[in-house]
Amino acid sequence: MHDCIFCKIVAGDIPAEKLYEDDEVLAFRDIAPQAPVHFLVIPKKHIAGPADVVEADDRLVGKLLRVGAQVAAENGTGGAYRVICNNGSKAGQVVFHIHLHILGGKDRPWPI
Ligand code: AMP
Repeated sequence: MHDCIFCKIVAGDIPAEKLYEDDEVLAFRDIAPQAPVHFLVIPKKHIAGPADVVEADDRLVGKLLRVGAQVAAENGTGGAYRVICNNGSKAGQVVFHIHLHILGGKDRPWPI
């Protein structure tokens, strides 16, 4: 996708602080962290958002959770973190390339 900022990060056209990368998945720190640990996990394949996931993506989307858990464990969350995945601008989605927010490194209370 030409106009997708996360596709540009995948392509290496925009820098990011990468925490994990393989042939399918990338994790990198959020540029505007909302918690002491805040990173994003994305598929390299462009999927606009959660509502655009098709059955063929099931394994890949599940992998986002597994990689998120691994990277969270490696980055000081102590196994306590939140996962957020926004769908649609009214829900706060700004970047239309599916991503898990992983937030951790602080005690409760979280807003929800
Ligand atoms: P959302 O509101 O769920 O679409 O979240 C998009 C997230 O992407 C926000 O938390 C932004 O801070 C983050 N973001 C936008 N551009 C970049 C970037 N170039 N590198 C890292 N994070 C970014």
